[in-house]
Amino acid sequence: MAERYNPYDNFLSVLDKAANAVGMKEEEYVLIKYPERELKVSVPVKMDDGSVRVFEGYRVQHSTSRGPCKGGIRYHQSVNIDEVKALAAWMSFKCAVVNIPYGGAKGGIKVDPSTLSKAELERLTRRYTAMILPIIGPEKDIPAPDVGTNAQVMDWIMDTYSMMNGYTIPGVVTGKDLEVGGSLGRPEATGRGVMIITMEVLDKYKLAPSDVSVAVQGMGNVGSVAAKLLYEKGCRIVAVSDVSGGIRKASGLNIPEICEFVKQRKLLKDYYADGVEHIDNHALLTTKCDILIPAALENQITADIAKELNCRLVIEAANGPTTVEADAVLEKRDIVVLPDILTNAGGVIVSYCEWVQNLQSLTWDENDVNATLFKVMTRALTDVYHKARDYKISYRLAAYAVAIERLCTAKKKRGIFP
Ligand code: GLU
Repeated sequence: MAERYNPYDNFLSVLDKAANAVGMKEEEYVLIKYPERELKVSVPVKMDDGSVRVFEGYRVQHSTSRGPCKGGIRYHQSVNIDEVKALAAWMSFKCAVVNIPYGGAKGGIKVDPSTLSKAELERLTRRYTAMILPIIGPEKDIPAPDVGTNAQVMDWIMDTYSMMNGYTIPGVVTGKDLEVGGSLGRPEATGRGVMIITMEVLDKYKLAPSDVSVAVQGMGNVGSVAAKLLYEKGCRIVAVSDVSGGIRKASGLNIPEICEFVKQRKLLKDYYADGVEHIDNHALLTTKCDILIPAALENQITADIAKELNCRLVIEAANGPTTVEADAVLEKRDIVVLPDILTNAGGVIVSYCEWVQNLQSLTWDENDVNATLFKVMTRALTDVYHKARDYKISYRLAAYAVAIERLCTAKKKRGIFP
């Protein structure tokens, strides 16, 4: 039987490989192998029918060496401690590779939010916030949206934290609605970042957007924005999927229409249009295309799937979609991978813009936000390109190496307390 996939082990394997590739000894990076703090909470919620359910929640802080912790909160039925630990570590690496002054954290509740009423979701969020309250705050740890959470959930977190402190503290959380201190550009930021990296990479390989076909796994906030922006740039989006399955059309899908469709909370299994075929997740991932964008959950491109991929480039919009074993297969097959910690950093970069605006009581216009996003992402891509070239390593190992060096330098300069 195949071993159970553990995302934290996946993180550790890549960490060791990257450190090794740039000649670092384990004693030089051992501290970043362990999260600084792990909090598990039991969250009781009064359900609408009068019963009480207790949900399992977490907040893991991986690193504070480079600044306050930063990272989303996930509501999903498969949340577990190893996943949250890995997601927290990836946040530290993400913030380090794009060089914004944050460490990394992640939170999660084991729940399928679609099974709760809005009132239940609010009570769950407020109680979870109260339970992690001692370790969060604008100078300590700043949550944000992730899979299964959204601006409304962030607004409730901000309100709960503010009520407990007696005054409004917008900088405790990012990804809020505009009316309560959110930033222009934040909802689209992760997808926009994926588009920016894709355009830069196409430029490097001297490909015009109109020459490339793209398949996107996941039409949530990240996948749908990436698909829409790439479509607007002229790419042919040949397949997309959601939890219900995928749709495919070799001559190109009508992405604006599909985005409208999914926005109405409809499932792609119910989308019909001329020449559109319905496919399963396996067919989506192995669709013939130039660029595959996994924008769903981790552990999607396994070694077996990697052998069957039919693309030239994988641009990771999800966190941790590719296993270490799959990476080895892809490298052998000359399929280039642009890694998650670089490619999906747009969200946290604009979260940083939101936090800076909140701390300074300022509001930026959308052009300023998008210009900052572009500058930070392209600078990080250049750093990763240089590292990959200098050490003749994959972009994943190069991105990790850039992050490891920044994290370890910060640790070294600060020293170990006491
Ligand atoms: N959840 C997003 C991520 O995985 C955003 C985190 C943030 O903005 O803090 O990068």
